[in-house]
Amino acid sequence: ADERAARAARLESLGQLASGVAHDFNNLLAIILNCIEFIAEDTGAEVAEDLARIRNAAHQAQELTSQLLLFAKREPTHVEIVDLNTVVTDATDLLSRAIGAGVTLRCHTCSKALPVYANRSRLDQILFNLVINARDAMPDGGFVAIATSAVELSEDPAQQTLPAGRYAQLTVSDNGTGMSAEVKDRLFEPFFTTKPADQGTGLGLATVYGIVGDAGGAITVDSTLGAGTTFRILLPLSQFVRPEPAPDHRTRSSSGL
Ligand code: ADP
Repeated sequence: ADERAARAARLESLGQLASGVAHDFNNLLAIILNCIEFIAEDTGAEVAEDLARIRNAAHQAQELTSQLLLFAKREPTHVEIVDLNTVVTDATDLLSRAIGAGVTLRCHTCSKALPVYANRSRLDQILFNLVINARDAMPDGGFVAIATSAVELSEDPAQQTLPAGRYAQLTVSDNGTGMSAEVKDRLFEPFFTTKPADQGTGLGLATVYGIVGDAGGAITVDSTLGAGTTFRILLPLSQFVRPEPAPDHRTRSSSGL
């Protein structure tokens, strides 16, 4: 029954996805077609303006389809055992550059290794989506904090949807605008966005949700209007530490080309 409910939910989100794309795409095509109509009657300066509008709309359409492809991409990706701490540490530089000057990024990784079985670039994608959203929620500046830890879930069905066991926890917190109950209810829906059309596709958190689910984890959000938001992700800890290849083996395989 659980499986059927999950499938129904997925089909529903695919339906939303399809109608959302069709709608946004149609609007962009309408802009393009209108401008082309006008060009026929336009004088020099107006032609340039219309061309700029066409370029803009086509660019947005392109952005939309590439986001969509990322979201829809469900073919098996390369998974390996990666240390969540390493993923966070390696991304810090790029993340601080991405958020710009007004927002400060703080990273706190725990001292224990956090081996998880996942695709590395998908973990990067999670970090980027959450951190960029945090930045967008702080137009007047603020703090984004990324933290990792190991947690143990006990058997308590009332408290969680995940099986008991050990998990790597990733939290991304901001002291931005926070969100209303209505937004909180819908934020994982594909195409749900409160941002202007050229700034948000509404696919970021739907993508994050899919990645976390595929990895056997869960994501929750805690948010207070006017105070800030914390996203919490749990990913099952792998029992195995990443096997380090012996030094001579590594040399041989890299020079064996
Ligand atoms: P997008 O960023 O393109 O709007 P997302 O799926 O990433 O799409 O986010 C959906 C919506 O959730 C955002 O438009 C915003 O309203 C809300 N949201 C997401 N993260 C935060 C945050 N950290 N603080 C406040 N609101 C947020």
